[in-house]
Formats: sequence, structure tokens, C-alpha cells
Amino acid sequence: MENKNILIGDYLGTIEEFVPGDGTYAEEGKIYASNMGKLILDRENHIAKVDGKFPLQLKNGQVVFGEVLDLRKNSVTVIVRKLRGFKGDVDIKTGLFISNISDEYIEKPQDAFAIGDIVKGIVIKVNAGLVDISTKGNLGVVKAFCRRCRSPLIKSPKFPALLLCPCCGNKEKRKIAIDYGNVAEL
Ligand SMILES: [Zn+2]
Repeated sequence: MENKNILIGDYLGTIEEFVPGDGTYAEEGKIYASNMGKLILDRENHIAKVDGKFPLQLKNGQVVFGEVLDLRKNSVTVIVRKLRGFKGDVDIKTGLFISNISDEYIEKPQDAFAIGDIVKGIVIKVNAGLVDISTKGNLGVVKAFCRRCRSPLIKSPKFPALLLCPCCGNKEKRKIAIDYGNVAEL
């Protein structure tokens, strides 16, 4: 497989054999290509990487971190900046439909997110360059800022559905991820 052209999602090896390097990501102990290009296996340092300058593409099941760019009536635009298991920065526009925000009924996206929030989501559909993500279950906002004073919000010890502003005391509602404020990728 070495020096062959690798496609995104190709299986490259296990994490027992190699450390996932640039252009790769690890999922359940296996290393896959996140770039198209040439596979380079650095046997001395046990690093597998894919050397390519091709644009990264998302695939179903990938965990993503992105910034809320726009809130519309039925959907949210999220610019994905980081991927789980991929060290580099990315810049990919994705859509989050209101029905994919939560397992509970959400009346309008403004009840779950604000512009500038950082959300953790999962890719559920990739079709002709359009990517849909979901924040159902344990996913959702991992970092948010006060609408009044822009300070970072913290989890409310009393009310699990609310975030608190430690500076001005503002309380805000979000679709909060289980690991709010505690995400290694950010
Ligand atoms: Zn505030």
C-alpha cells in the first residue's frame, strides 16, 4: 500500500502499529486516511501519514467541532473547524436541521444555539458536497458566550438546561453537550 495513491477513508493500519499522523484519523483503534495522497509509513517513529494537499472531505459518523455561523427558521449553519482524530484545522460548511438538533422538540434554533457557539456534532449525511450534521443525544454546545457581555458561559449546577454567565449573571438556554467546557480538541 505504501507509495500508492490513498483515498479518503482508506484503512491504513491499527493504532498498535502506528501513531496516526498528518492526513489520517483514528477510529476504534484503526487508522484511516483523511486526505488523498501518498501513504508514508515512518517505521522508525511508528507514524502513518498521508502526504497530500487535497481538500479534506467529511464522511458519515465523523465527530466534528464547529462554530455557529447563522441561525435560520429551520436550520443552523455550522462551519466545521476541527475533526476528532485529525490535528489540522479545517473549514467546511455544514447544515444542521432543526429536527436533528435534539431528541426533544425544538421550536426554533435560537432556543438551542447562538451565533458564535462552538458545537460538537456528528456527520449524518454527505451528498454532492452538502454535509448534514446532528447534535442529538450527548452532543451539542461545548463552548458558548454570553449574549450580553460575551464572557464564556459555564454550566449551571442547579439547572442542567441552562448556562450561566459568571460576569453578569445572565442565564441562557442551549442544547448543551454532556462534555460542555471539557473538550480536548478545542
Ligand atoms: Zn454576561
